[in-house]
Amino acid sequence: MPVDATLPYDDQNIFARILRGEIPARKVYEDEYALAFHDIAPWSPTHILVIPKGAYVSWDDFSARASDAEIAGFVRAVGHIAREAGLVTPGYRLLANAGPHSHQEVPHLHVHILAGRPLGPMLV
Ligand code: C5P
Repeated sequence: MPVDATLPYDDQNIFARILRGEIPARKVYEDEYALAFHDIAPWSPTHILVIPKGAYVSWDDFSARASDAEIAGFVRAVGHIAREAGLVTPGYRLLANAGPHSHQEVPHLHVHILAGRPLGPMLV
């Protein structure tokens, strides 16, 4: 079910629990600013989620409140993960849902990295 990502941060959300190590995830990368893991129900052959270490509900919340260092660290981590996964040449898609119309399901910012086959045009 979509969440209302305009609500205050809920530290019991599933990605907060993954960050605290309370729930397992298939991790692909971690640094000071970001954690990346394979999506549990992939939409494409490669489907990685990248989340910031900080408590941000959505892209809107992150871009408004995060420090420059957090934003730079997170954006660089997304690029690094895609390069390390060999996705640059075949190509990949980034997607972040935010807000009631987007169908965001988990109220902790996450960027989807989708790849592994031709994805076709974005459908809305
Ligand atoms: O952008 P949205 O919030 O809809 O995406 C949430 C994503 O989190 C889904 O792709 C879902 O499969 C994934 N998920 C996960 N591990 C969980 C719970 C959700 O990878 N434990």
